[in-house]
Amino acid sequence: MVSAIILAAGKGSRMKSDKAKQFMDINDKPLLYYSLKIFDASVVDEIILVTGRDDINYVKQEIVDKYGFQKVKRVVPGGKERFESVMKGLKAVDRRNKIVMIHDSARPCVTNRMILDSISGARRYKACTVAMPVKDTIKIVDENEFGVETPDRSRVYQIQTPQTFEKSLLEEAYSRLKISGDRDVTDDTMIVERYMDVPSKMIEGSYENIKVTTPEDIKIAQLYLS
Ligand code: C5P
Repeated sequence: MVSAIILAAGKGSRMKSDKAKQFMDINDKPLLYYSLKIFDASVVDEIILVTGRDDINYVKQEIVDKYGFQKVKRVVPGGKERFESVMKGLKAVDRRNKIVMIHDSARPCVTNRMILDSISGARRYKACTVAMPVKDTIKIVDENEFGVETPDRSRVYQIQTPQTFEKSLLEEAYSRLKISGDRDVTDDTMIVERYMDVPSKMIEGSYENIKVTTPEDIKIAQLYLS
């Protein structure tokens, strides 16, 4: 059985908006609605929704109840950093479930195909992430912004979500992260790589599976979701 942790506890400071990013309207629905809609209609057995402590009632009433999402089993408060929000979500997952998916609500264009491929990927490889090869040439720079290295573009991927794991692997990775006190982590594949030495398989995502981060992304998401 599969649990999905949907993250919506970020401050979204790069959006420069009074309203938290996950609640901003895109085509008359809050950003968070779109990921919930896809996961709720998918094969996942439960959704754990992680949001800000002060937003829990709002999310329950104005999003989960209003749109009738049936699979949201718990709405839990997140932490200061993304990895702390994942930790809180992991604690709320049904003990019996063997696969955990982590998804950023800031990616509203996730599809059912990505969810199915990710679940198969986690069963086969233990750890996988939705990703796409980069289109641009990537440059590693020095501290003065001079390019010093150009990685082979065919081997450079941009990482998206969902990221999907065997639950026991992810739990152990997070427990080692906690013991280490390390805070310099940006996603779950990085944590599993660093603490369990398990590489994640790249699963084909989409160039439309953007992370809504800055104001111009709203317009692009509006187009993709219309
Ligand atoms: O800030 P950023 O766009 O990288 O966040 C990625 C996702 O992680 C967003 O969906 C955001 O709501 C979530 N997040 C979270 N808790 C945090 C920081 C980010 O749930 N403390």
